[in-house]
Amino acid sequence: MRNLYIFICMVLSANIFQPATAQFQLEGYSYIDGSPVRVEIRDGKISAVERIEKFTDETNRQFIAPGLIDSQVNGFAGVSFSFAGGELTREGVRKVTRALWEKGVTSYLPTLTTNSHELLIRNLEVLAGTIDDEALLGSIPGFHMEGPYINPEDGYRGAHPRQHIRKPDREEFMAYRQASGGRILAVTLAPEMEGALDFTRHCTAEGIVVALGHHNAPTRVIDQAVANGAKISTHLGNGCANMINRHVNPLWPQLANDGLSISIICDGFHLLPEEIRVFYGIKGPERTILISDVTSYAALPPGEYLTPDGEAIELTSEGMLRYPAQNVLYGSASAISKGVVHIMKVTGCSLADAIRMASTNPADLYGLGDRGVIEPGKRADLILFTIGNDDLEIQRTYVRGKLVYEADRTGSKHP
Ligand SMILES: [Zn+2]
Repeated sequence: MRNLYIFICMVLSANIFQPATAQFQLEGYSYIDGSPVRVEIRDGKISAVERIEKFTDETNRQFIAPGLIDSQVNGFAGVSFSFAGGELTREGVRKVTRALWEKGVTSYLPTLTTNSHELLIRNLEVLAGTIDDEALLGSIPGFHMEGPYINPEDGYRGAHPRQHIRKPDREEFMAYRQASGGRILAVTLAPEMEGALDFTRHCTAEGIVVALGHHNAPTRVIDQAVANGAKISTHLGNGCANMINRHVNPLWPQLANDGLSISIICDGFHLLPEEIRVFYGIKGPERTILISDVTSYAALPPGEYLTPDGEAIELTSEGMLRYPAQNVLYGSASAISKGVVHIMKVTGCSLADAIRMASTNPADLYGLGDRGVIEPGKRADLILFTIGNDDLEIQRTYVRGKLVYEADRTGSKHP
């Protein structure tokens, strides 16, 4: 009897206090070349990758790829990282993260757009508190500040409120860095703003990626910014006035400077197919990054909404977010999973290249060496999916080896 008691205690303690090594395998068509592969996961990391002759489950028809990494997420599913309408909370950040997992996004940079100093500080503090939130499994490696150091002119500032736009200020930015817990990974600025070139050099020296965006800089200034460390153009083709000089405008020098990568919004609304083809043709899969630039209106039902400023906007059933009164775009409502399919469609690029632009490249640029590829030792941030007509059909999402999303099998589509 006593032995039985000890045995039961041992079994219980083994279960409770010594969790079994979390080890399992996933199979799918490699996103690189479509051949069947088996990925072994142990303790949240990829431990082995091998090619196989055939799947254990013959009905398997899914691709496997590293989770998507979105470096420009303004909000999602009703939560905004920037606006004052509604306090940003830790639960709100969790809600965004879970909604993005459903779209195959396993890492993202919450992006704060131009706003008052107080609001930026407050929201950065809230966000800094989520970095180590175990519920997020490390899905937020850091943040992107888009503004407030951008061009205040209409057309270039886009939807950024003019009253909060200001010149680059290192002291002020230090306060943002501190509020963020040192986790600002990227800042988008206009290089023609007074002091922006020095600011660029200092940020680069601190390991922060400087991006050029919402600007009207001439060639000389763009080239200087790149010489000072600027690495990428933010959403090229957007954040630019509609009426520009056909010769002297910010597009040509950014396309012509080989030192600049570009990020593009591939939601089917922000750029024409021919713009995407030209941009991609020049920069190639090596220097192109897909971003969503999604707002809090993404993942909400189609309909009319009021912005925090009280302006009426409409989310159409096609996923376009617009001001009906002016018929202009109000940001994006689609995750980058849609961009992966859209860029394949309009450029004819491979799935491997599309995933590279939506995962590997942002991981490289933002110093996230532990993700963005399927290799032993990397985080087991993995997605299993099929390719739908205009979006990836995500079947399962794993973050750090944990299943965080599984599509309803009855409702999911299979080829
Ligand atoms: Zn922007």
